[in-house]
Amino acid sequence: MNIEKISEVLVGQPAFRYKQIQKSIYGDLIDNWDQATTLSKDLRQKLNQECPLEINGEIKKTGDKKTLKAIITLLDNQKIETVLMMHKDGRYTVCVSSQVGCALGCTFCATGEMGYKRNLKTNEIIEQVIFFSRYIRKTYSPEDRVTNIVFMGMGEPMLNYDNVLAAVRILNSEETFNIGARKISISTSGITEGIKKLALEGIQVNLAISLHAPNDKMRLKLMPISRKYKIDKIISTMDSYIEKTGRQVMIEYLLIKDSNDSIEAATELAELLKGKLVVVNLIPCNPVGGNKPSPEYTIKKFKNILLRNGITVTQRYTFGRDIDAACGQLAIK
Ligand code: SAH
Ligand code: SF4
Repeated sequence: MNIEKISEVLVGQPAFRYKQIQKSIYGDLIDNWDQATTLSKDLRQKLNQECPLEINGEIKKTGDKKTLKAIITLLDNQKIETVLMMHKDGRYTVCVSSQVGCALGCTFCATGEMGYKRNLKTNEIIEQVIFFSRYIRKTYSPEDRVTNIVFMGMGEPMLNYDNVLAAVRILNSEETFNIGARKISISTSGITEGIKKLALEGIQVNLAISLHAPNDKMRLKLMPISRKYKIDKIISTMDSYIEKTGRQVMIEYLLIKDSNDSIEAATELAELLKGKLVVVNLIPCNPVGGNKPSPEYTIKKFKNILLRNGITVTQRYTFGRDIDAACGQLAIK
């Protein structure tokens, strides 16, 4: 798919043409311009040539039928992964990638292991949502639609800030997907420049920070980026973000057996976050690079310490572990 040249192709056309075209791509979800019957034959032909709509994607299904992973091959043959999660209440969440690979090399993350290739363009981010929107419509019902977006696929969204924000604005637009900003979440490893910029956007998206440790020493063992972004700086940036936006921040905390899951770690984390407008999301780590998930009773103990300190805690259900579609398992093998 390549819709970058659309405005070029539309030069000289009346202004309403652009609206028609938007409706065809995002509303009718056409995958070939011949389906856009409101357009002249000449224009359709030109659009098919200059702005093809086919997406080169391949779907892998999970056993539990709740998660689908797709591998999309981009025009330069780079491959990215994107995941669809289907919820019992009828919501559909797409977990989108923001980069091909990731430069940050967190030790628990499969994307980190593959290294960084390049940033995704805005349209390549949107393409992932279009891919699953078409799929949902064909497979389930024409009324069903993508309702939620999480930037938790491959890559660090804050290191591709402009393209990610442009994609958020498109996804949020009434003319396209009309996905409410509050239904869109951006997850970052703690790139403070990005958090600062996001606070000034005046858009109500959710911010998630992957903390994974209560102190720099422990965090550095898991996330090499901790050398540059210390916890103090991340927390004070988060405080200003909360003050500016009034929005709750999600703290993601991966529980890795015998690494960051001790009672001391939980106590220190509680001290760090006490009284702040945050919710801690405890995530049993998916096995990557020799890391093992904390056992259930350790998770319970960890959770209780946070709860006793008045901190809101949720626990992430792990979708799609059996097809490597779970968090941190996205990598092109
Ligand atoms: N780079 C961003 C967003 C992509 S990672 C970030 O790090 O926040 C999205 C989420 O997947 C992060 O919270 C990350 O910590 C989590 N993740 C990575 N590896 C994981 C693993 N092995 N098990 C479970 N979650 C993992
Ligand atoms: Fe990159 Fe996020 Fe994976 Fe770390 S967890 S390597 S920041 S994608």
